[in-house]
Amino acid sequence: IVSFKDVHKSFGTLSVLKGLNFDVAKGEVVALIGRSGSGKSTALRCVDRLEVIDRGEISVCGHRVSDPKINLRRLRQDVGIVFQSYNLFPHLTVEQNITLAPRWVKKIDRNKARNLAQEVLAQVGLEEKIDYYPEQLSGGQQQRVAIARSLAMRPQVMLFDEVTSALDPELTGEVLKVIEDLARKGMTMLLVTHEMAFAARVANRIIFMHQGQIHETGTSEILRNPSTAELRSFVG
Ligand code: ATP
Ligand code: MG
Repeated sequence: IVSFKDVHKSFGTLSVLKGLNFDVAKGEVVALIGRSGSGKSTALRCVDRLEVIDRGEISVCGHRVSDPKINLRRLRQDVGIVFQSYNLFPHLTVEQNITLAPRWVKKIDRNKARNLAQEVLAQVGLEEKIDYYPEQLSGGQQQRVAIARSLAMRPQVMLFDEVTSALDPELTGEVLKVIEDLARKGMTMLLVTHEMAFAARVANRIIFMHQGQIHETGTSEILRNPSTAELRSFVG
């Protein structure tokens, strides 16, 4: 459903992705791990065309992301992305935050929108917060609303970039649990995380990035038994 073929990306003279090749199959959960600066966020952002690649090819749910004539609106309906900072609109309620895009893009009416908000909030365990404002929620709850907001577009694949790293440790568990629930329901996901135990639990496959390339990949077994010195030192 996602495929990277020989993907290169530079920022000026800094070469960040140096020939990245991998696929994510439907229903699969793939975790990207690696040191700061290894290119994990850049790789993720390229999937949604928040960054434009220099060379190679990315295809996502039948969209050729490298095609300059791509329909970005359709691409971004199929790809949900959640970042470290949840960026909810502070002056809108939870329901309004969630239904803004679906009402605009899919032209659904007010009643349908409310039902949709209830449905996706149930998926993240926050039905009772539908009429709250973001500032009335904890960081973990706000991040769960951000996930619900993405789900409301009914994406084919979800991208998560260190969605718990801005949270207090006691709030990370509730967000990771939501992602694990999605995995169990068969959602296709590509996620960047520093939580190794979580990656081992949830991911079908782990990709260790090093200097813009895949240095080692496999099941969670590679975390217990790294075959390269770089991964050994990273997990150690
Ligand atoms: P972290 O674990 O710290 O989030 P990362 O693996 O996600 O790191 P990236 O954010 O992909 O790393 O960044 C890879 C490199 O590209 C870094 O050296 C970063 O400074 C650089 N970089 C990223 N975005 C830009 C940009 N828009 N302009 C210039 N350089 C950038
Ligand atoms: Mg990053």
